[in-house]
Amino acid sequence: MDIDLSPQELEFRREFRTWLEHNIPENWEPREARGQSHHESWELRRDFERRMGRDGWLGVAWPEEYGGRGATLMEQVIYQEELARSEAPGLAGHVGLQMVGPILMEVGTDEQRARFLPPILRGEEVWYQGFSEPNAGSDLAGLQTRAVLDGDEWVISGQKVWGGFAEFADWGAVLVRTDPDVPKHKGISFMVVDMKSPGIDISYIREIHGGSNMNEVFFDGVRVPRDNVISEINDGWNAATRLLTWERGVITLSILVNHEIFWERLREYALANKRGGRRLADIPHIREALAQTYVNIRMMKLANLRWLAHYLKGERPGLETSYMKLYWNSAHKSVSDLALELGGADALELPGSHAAPEGAFPVEWMASRATSILGGTEDIQRNIIAERIYGLPRGS
Ligand SMILES: Cc1cc2nc3c(=O)[nH]c(=O)nc-3n(C[C@H](O)[C@H](O)[C@H](O)COP(=O)(O)OP(=O)(O)OC[C@H]3O[C@@H](n4cnc5c(N)ncnc54)[C@H](O)[C@@H]3O)c2cc1C
Repeated sequence: MDIDLSPQELEFRREFRTWLEHNIPENWEPREARGQSHHESWELRRDFERRMGRDGWLGVAWPEEYGGRGATLMEQVIYQEELARSEAPGLAGHVGLQMVGPILMEVGTDEQRARFLPPILRGEEVWYQGFSEPNAGSDLAGLQTRAVLDGDEWVISGQKVWGGFAEFADWGAVLVRTDPDVPKHKGISFMVVDMKSPGIDISYIREIHGGSNMNEVFFDGVRVPRDNVISEINDGWNAATRLLTWERGVITLSILVNHEIFWERLREYALANKRGGRRLADIPHIREALAQTYVNIRMMKLANLRWLAHYLKGERPGLETSYMKLYWNSAHKSVSDLALELGGADALELPGSHAAPEGAFPVEWMASRATSILGGTEDIQRNIIAERIYGLPRGS
């Protein structure tokens, strides 16, 4: 970010950067597809995360009373930048750290906080986010997984989809319908589910690039203690959505750094390699693509800086995260299109082959297609901008 940092913030950056230099596992491959299996890379991530927890580098944004560092917003930005720059393993426990923890602090009971917060902060327990369903993605409030009270337990039945790493999770933060007879946003509750409970069946989603980090989760009469509801019964929608805008902003900042690093590598590649006897960087349409991609990443950066400036002034932006998402989509798409263009035929080699520059360009290209869907599709972001920012009539 192009913002002057205070001496304390510079020191925070130095301290974390030094810690990362000494603690990223030697056998960690930043581009997972280059060799590590699904399970191997998960174990490395967990191990790294426990080290982070041990040395106080998890939950830096959490208040000190809950064991965090109470980091300022700028420090959180620095933290995300350094994680991205170092190509450290992605945080396996991000659902617990960035969503469940803060929600429990805000609306959980003392018992829930005492039970669940410390293991999240130590990197010992990881959470899965059970929101989307086959017929409830863009229209999440239409979810149909049911929970019915039976004595002192809720009994959950239904199907969730697109759950990242659900197979490894200790706990699920699951949205369920507890009242089908009221308007749909008002009959949803937010429940904590032990992912080892009888009645849970997990299957893999085979992704376009061959990986399988996402799961479908089937609940068949899964029994959950009555007290495992976060916030009030039927208040799950508010609880689940309250903090998401904020989290989305900080996370997008680290993705931005990834794109900047990737673009710089592509620039170097275009300067160092030739096609048909000509340096790639001298071929007009490639020069143009390099420049356009730079512009797209810059637009994403400016949207992020605007978001950050609002927060630093104590304002709470909301709807503009829809712009941030659209700029993120176009930056990711153009940087990965550029990578394929530069690699030429070699870039089409699938992961595992080292023939393609960086080995995993096609994976990045395929992942960029998912970016335009996850966290709300492009169409949905455009609807929000049209209807809620510009006040245009609702589409039919
Ligand atoms: C890689 C990946 C990771 C994900 N991670 C998670 C996760 O961690 N947790 C989670 O809960 N979910 C996750 N999801 C699910 C994601 O949130 C949904 O896929 C997304 O919201 C779209 O929902 P859908 O797939 O049901 O598509 P649909 O909602 O069925 O949409 C289908 C198409 O119709 C369009 N459309 C739908 N409604 C409208 C409308 N009103 N106006 C205009 N066009 C419309 C959409 O833009 C899309 O093109 C993930 C998805 C992917 C691909």
